[in-house]
Amino acid sequence: MNAAHPDGAQIALRGVRKTYGALDVLKGISLDVQQGEVLVLIGPSGSGKSTLLRCVNMLEMPTGGEVWIRGSLINDARRGHRAQERYLNAMRMKVGMVFQHFNLFAHLTVLENIMLAPVQLLGHGVAQARAEARALLESVGVLDKQDVYPGKLSGGQKQRVAIARALALRPDAMLFDEPTSALDPEMVAGVLAVMEKLARAGMTMMVVTHEMRFAEKVADRVVFIAGGRVVEEGRPAAIFHQPAHERTQAFLADIL
Ligand code: ADP
Ligand code: MG
Repeated sequence: MNAAHPDGAQIALRGVRKTYGALDVLKGISLDVQQGEVLVLIGPSGSGKSTLLRCVNMLEMPTGGEVWIRGSLINDARRGHRAQERYLNAMRMKVGMVFQHFNLFAHLTVLENIMLAPVQLLGHGVAQARAEARALLESVGVLDKQDVYPGKLSGGQKQRVAIARALALRPDAMLFDEPTSALDPEMVAGVLAVMEKLARAGMTMMVVTHEMRFAEKVADRVVFIAGGRVVEEGRPAAIFHQPAHERTQAFLADIL
């Protein structure tokens, strides 16, 4: 067992580094996300935001530093390879992820997309999984699409199904990587409303987004990342209206 992380954060990053060959993408990122906290990550394209989320969800292993989830060190070099694989698979279920491009299973109906992991990974009975899937679809407003294949959905509906699918594993935290960037403008509000509801219900969230109005309303903290480092972080009002660093000011001037 790992020692409990002293700060009691839901997610704690300590000097997280990631390199791809000679490319130094994350240069030592330290961040804490407390239980129920909503953290919005902003920063220029290529600054390492997606890589950071992928390190938290263990889709990528950090090259250095520590990732702690609920007091457990994820990248513990003392674990053997097979033990580490088993451990990662268990931990991945605890951290849900929603991507820009939905990644739904095209050959499964909406309902089957939601039920798959609870049945196959959690061993839930089909009747229970179906009931829970329907409740989740209702909560994201797409229950009427339960028997449809993803190809027949709008982008906004696909993304709401993707959120429901991630929630079906009852995660402790949710990561969103530009969840509305691929959507037609009229679809954005519906997805953001689902995310806001989730935040108000107390979900711990890390959200990469360019939706500054959402960030201002929903985020507890905004983190500006550039060049693989945290440049500045603070309350949304402080970051958006009184950014301390020139790089933050320049970034905000470009996007606002
Ligand atoms: P952001 O999400 O902030 O736009 P990314 O984390 O996607 O940034 O990418 C940061 C940098 O890492 C970019 O230069 C990107 O090309 C590079 N990168 C990301 N993933 C890989 C990978 N699998 N292999 C090599 N380079 C990568
Ligand atoms: Mg990205």
